[in-house]
Amino acid sequence: MSGPPTRNLPVSTAETAEYWAGCRRHELLIQRCASCGKHQFYPRMLCTVCSARTLQWVRASGRGTVRSFTIVRRAVSEAYAADVPYVVALIRLTEGPTMMSNVVGCRAEEVSMGMPVEVVFEDWPGVDVTVPKFQRSR
Ligand SMILES: [Zn+2]
Repeated sequence: MSGPPTRNLPVSTAETAEYWAGCRRHELLIQRCASCGKHQFYPRMLCTVCSARTLQWVRASGRGTVRSFTIVRRAVSEAYAADVPYVVALIRLTEGPTMMSNVVGCRAEEVSMGMPVEVVFEDWPGVDVTVPKFQRSR
């Protein structure tokens, strides 16, 4: 075991492949149930409200608010050492679902509960991965 430290890469599955493909196009996709109309995230095979399999992919607004957050000051591995301090947050999307992400583009101490945010996309070079992050809404 040697070589440079590597980041944990998201694993694309049957449920998440469309989501990750959307991220690579810089589109935040979530699922909407055609039966009951509810949105959900993370991606699943069934609607979490009515159990229907009639899920459609829709492009989310990319807007939301910070529901909760923590500031990470000690990197979990050397691969993240240059990132600290960083913010891990629960983002309540305007469509309803909550997703975990990072708040970027400001000092960690400037993040607050209820802060309006919008999605930005971070392309990870060399691994064909794009991850959604959030910044303060303009
Ligand atoms: Zn449903």
